Amino acid sequence: MTADLKQPATPPDAAWQDDVRAGVRHVRDLASLPLSPAERAAAQAAAAGHKVRVPKAYLDLIDWEDPNDPIRAQAIPSPEELVATEGELDDPIGDHEFSPVPRLTHRHADRVLLFPTYQCAVYCRFCFRKESLTAIGRGYTREALEPALAYIAGHGEIREVILTGGDPLSLPDKALAEIRARTEAIPHVRLLRIHTRVPVALPSRITPGLVAALQGRLMVTVVTHFNHPREITDETEAACRTMRQAGFVLLNQSVLLKGVNDNVEVLEELCRELVYRLGVKPYYLHHGDLARGMAHRRTTIAKGQALVAELRQRLSGICNPTYVIDLPDGGGKVPLAASHIEGCEGGTWRIRGQDGKVREYREVVG
Ligand SMILES: *Cc1c(COP(=O)(O)O)cnc(C)c1O
Ligand code: SF4
Repeated sequence: MTADLKQPATPPDAAWQDDVRAGVRHVRDLASLPLSPAERAAAQAAAAGHKVRVPKAYLDLIDWEDPNDPIRAQAIPSPEELVATEGELDDPIGDHEFSPVPRLTHRHADRVLLFPTYQCAVYCRFCFRKESLTAIGRGYTREALEPALAYIAGHGEIREVILTGGDPLSLPDKALAEIRARTEAIPHVRLLRIHTRVPVALPSRITPGLVAALQGRLMVTVVTHFNHPREITDETEAACRTMRQAGFVLLNQSVLLKGVNDNVEVLEELCRELVYRLGVKPYYLHHGDLARGMAHRRTTIAKGQALVAELRQRLSGICNPTYVIDLPDGGGKVPLAASHIEGCEGGTWRIRGQDGKVREYREVVG
């Protein structure tokens, strides 16, 4: 065996466990952060409604000198969260309405959401599933997933199984390997998709053991959740490289958040660095949904449309995400970008070009 193939002195798992231990794990750990007494009291009150957890790697990205720091805004509870605004919803995207069995949502014929756990490595303040995450005892057990797996096996139209939650990559390798094995044993399933914030908030968790647990018969797609270019670091780059080298397809979804990324320069840099540095394709930019206590982070749709129109000018097709809204009551995700079509008369369309000028396009069909 050559020297560089030897086991490292500390197993790779130790690094991420240290990151978790040294981070914020409980409300009481907020006391160790450089918050003013008023901020601390407000954060503690808000944390009662939506858990608080921040691995050290993510905590270290915060600039405490800046009260509007975009990383802090995503992870540290703020008093505004306590303000419920009329029109906000407990289940903003209708997950429950389309749940035929526990831990599964089936709204589109060919794909299902599977919820192996309702726990996360980081609790994002803007989470749209925060109401599902509050119940205790909703971690992973093999038994809890049986009805969902039986449902998938019984529905031959299902092609994609999307692990979401909670954060599926907060589970141990063994649990992930088990879920992967059970899923790939269902012949009509083709793709295993994982929606996760772990590569952003706890990149040291992306170990050789973790990627090996997911490798098998199925195509694996990991949908990361970067919201700001400051989240792109040497550590997140290494995590994404590990996943790409394992053969996973990497996509990213971002949420449009006021005061965090509702700015064209920020989004432009985020999308470019995702592609050029991490090898991750921007997939969706989500309009902020109607999760409770999030009015202070929501922008208008008009603002979002202006931002994506500008991104379209500045970025290549690869770097552009699709701006979508997840409609309440299970209406699904629909694109929100303003249309370039101005009208159509007798087979002649009037279409606005990228330069803003309207051109006519006459359809010629055989
Ligand atoms: C978002 C979502 C999906 C995945 O949709 P894609 O457009 O394929 O990414 C599937 N099911 C539900 C219920 C969803 O909310
Ligand atoms: S990781 Fe996902 S599910 Fe967990 S708090 Fe963040 S957005 Fe919500």
